[in-house]
Amino acid sequence: MKQGTVIGRFAPSPSGRLHLGNLFCSLLAWLSAKAKGGEIVLRIEDLDRERSRREYARQAEADLAFLGLTWDKGGEQGGAEYFQSNRSEFYEELLARLREQGLLYPCFCTRAELHAASAPHASDGELVYSGKCRKLPPAEVKRLSEGRSPALRLRVPEETITFQDGHYGKFSQNLEKDCGDFILRRSDGGFAYQLAVVADDAAMGITEVVRGRDLLSSTPRQLYLYRLLGFSPPEFTHTPLLLGPDGRRLSKRDRDNSLDALREQGLSGEEIIGRLAFLAGILDKPEPASPKELIPLFSWDKVPREDIRLPEGF
Ligand code: GLU
Repeated sequence: MKQGTVIGRFAPSPSGRLHLGNLFCSLLAWLSAKAKGGEIVLRIEDLDRERSRREYARQAEADLAFLGLTWDKGGEQGGAEYFQSNRSEFYEELLARLREQGLLYPCFCTRAELHAASAPHASDGELVYSGKCRKLPPAEVKRLSEGRSPALRLRVPEETITFQDGHYGKFSQNLEKDCGDFILRRSDGGFAYQLAVVADDAAMGITEVVRGRDLLSSTPRQLYLYRLLGFSPPEFTHTPLLLGPDGRRLSKRDRDNSLDALREQGLSGEEIIGRLAFLAGILDKPEPASPKELIPLFSWDKVPREDIRLPEGF
C-alpha cells in the first residue's frame, strides 16, 4: 500500500442483518475514502460471542457486494485476522501495557449496583461510573475475587478531550465527568468495544473512521486510548442516523429495513444506492446510480447534520 493512502473501513457487527442505516453509513465511508483515491478494509466486529453469527457476517458481505460497496482488504477472504473474535491475544497484550502503567483496576459492581451508583450522562443516557471500585484495598480485591470475576476498568483523569469531527466540527468531553472510568474487559472475559476498535483501527492502518453519530460520544475515550497506547489516531467523521418513518432508530431485528425486504420488492442495487444517495444529499433525485458514479458528486458539505427520516415505503 502506498504511503499516504487513505484507508477507511467497514466495521459491521454480525449480530443481525445490516439495516438501511448501516448501509447508508457504509456508502458514506466508501465514498469518503474513494473520493480521495483511498481503500477500504472490512473488519468483522464479532466481539460479542453470544450474539454474533458467522452467517450474519457472510450476509453482510453479500449485502455490501450486492450494492457495489467493495472492499480492498479483509472480510472472509482476508482471513481470520479480520475477525475480532480471533484477536484476543493482541487485545490482551494492550491490556498488559495499560496495566503496567497502573491504569487498570478490577471492578466487581453488579449491573444493579452500577445503576444505583452511577450518574446517567446528560446527553445520551449512558452511565458514568462512580469510581466505587477504584480504591478497593488489595485484601478486599482478593476477597471479592473469590466470589466473582471482575471487569477491568480504565482509570481516567479529569481532562477534557477535544477533537475536530469531519462533519460535526469541534466536539469536547471531559473524561471524568462525561465518561467516567470505562470498561476494557467485561467480567465474562470479553473485550470491550472501546479497546478492540482502537486496537484494530490502529493495527490495520485505518486513517479515517466514518460511522454513525451514535458513536460520536465514544470518540474522546478512544482518542485517550490512542494516546495511552502510543498509536496515532485516524480522522473521525460521523454521519447522521437514518431513522424509521416513525422517527425511531432502526434496529437489526426489524426486517422492514433490511436489504432482503427491498430486494423482494424488486429494487436493484443501483436503485437502493440512488435512494440512499438522495437521502444523503448527494443526488438531487432518487435515481439509480452505482457507488462509482457517485464519487465525483460526493462532498460532506451536501450531507445533512440532522438525522434523516426514511420516507414511508423507502
Ligand atoms: N461495529 C460497530 C457497529 O456495527 C461499529 C463500530 C465503529 O464503527 O467504530 O455499530
